[in-house]
Amino acid sequence: MSDSEFDLIRDFFAGLDQGVSVRVGIGDDAAALSLPEGHLLHISTDTAVEGVHFLASLPPADVAYRSTMAAASDLAAMGASPEALLLALTVPEGDRAWLQSFSRGIAEVCTAIGVPLVGGDTTRGPLSLTVTVLGSTPADRYLTRSGAKVGDRLCVSGTLGDAAAGLAVLSGQLAVDESAAAFLTMRYARPSACLALGEALRNCATSCIDISDGLLADAAQIATASGVGLEIDSALLPLSETLRSSADLDQSLDWALAGGDDYELLFTLPDNMPLPDGCTEMGRVVAGSGISCNRTPERIGYDHFRR
Ligand code: ADP
Ligand code: MG
Repeated sequence: MSDSEFDLIRDFFAGLDQGVSVRVGIGDDAAALSLPEGHLLHISTDTAVEGVHFLASLPPADVAYRSTMAAASDLAAMGASPEALLLALTVPEGDRAWLQSFSRGIAEVCTAIGVPLVGGDTTRGPLSLTVTVLGSTPADRYLTRSGAKVGDRLCVSGTLGDAAAGLAVLSGQLAVDESAAAFLTMRYARPSACLALGEALRNCATSCIDISDGLLADAAQIATASGVGLEIDSALLPLSETLRSSADLDQSLDWALAGGDDYELLFTLPDNMPLPDGCTEMGRVVAGSGISCNRTPERIGYDHFRR
C-alpha cells in the first residue's frame, strides 16, 4: 500500500522543528514561535517550479538546498536573522527515494542556516516547492531597497557570475576542467545566503537587495525604490579566479552583470562607513534615475512574464 500524506510528513519532515524560539512545531494546526522582545518579524516566500527555476536533472537534495537558500537570501537582504522555515511541497508521487534525497537537502540547509523547519504542506501535483522564511530584526534596524542616498558607494559581496557559469556547465554549454566544474556548479546548486553580512549591514548600509535576477536587474530595483541613479563600473566587478579562467572576459562580465542566482548582497554604504570584509565597491549613487554601466550585456535579468 502506498504512503499517506501523514506517513510522508512523519518520515521526511518531522523532527527538523527544534529551536529555542519554537513553542509549537510540526504536527499541530499551526506553529507558534516567540520573538525576541522589541523585534520585528520579517516574512518572505519563494516558489520554485521544476523546469522554470531548476533543471529536472538537478538532484533532489540540491533542489531543496538551493530553493531554501534562495528564500533565506531575502532575509539577508533585510538584515534579518533567520528564525524559521515553512515548506509547501507539491510532488507528482510519493517517491520515497526522491523524498529521501530531498529531505536530506532540507536538513542540510536547516543546519547551514541554523533554523528549524516548523511547518508546511504536502500535496500531489507537478513538482514545485514554496519556501516561506521568517526572520527578525530589532524594531528600528533593518534594511530596505529604498534608502540609498546620492554620494553613497555601491558595493557587492563575494564574486558575481559563478552561478550562471555553473548553470552553463550543468546544461552542457560550458566545458571546463573538473575542479572548475565542481566550484561553479556548487555555486549554482549550493548557494550560500549572506546572512551574517546582512546582520552586520543593518548597522551601516542605507539600502540593500540580494542578487537573484542579475546585478543590473536588481540594482534597478534599488534605484527605483530609492529615487536615485546608480553608476556601475564593470571593470570593478568582482570575478572569481575560477570564472576568469573558465570563460573569456566578455562572457564572464555578461554573467556577472546579467546572470542570476548569485545570492550575493548589493548595498549602498555612506562614505564614512568601512567596507565589510569580502565586499567590493563597484559604483556610486548619483542624482537621477536608472542604472548607468559602461557595458551592456545581451540579456538583462529574468522576468517570468516577459516574452
Ligand atoms: P492541516 O491539514 O492542518 O493543514 P497537514 O496535514 O497539512 O495539516 O500538516 C500536518 C503538520 O505537518 C502541520 O504541522 C504542517 O505544518 C506539517 N507539514 C506538512 N507538510 C510539511 C512539509 N512538507 N514540511 C514541513 N512540515 C509539514
Ligand atoms: Mg495542510
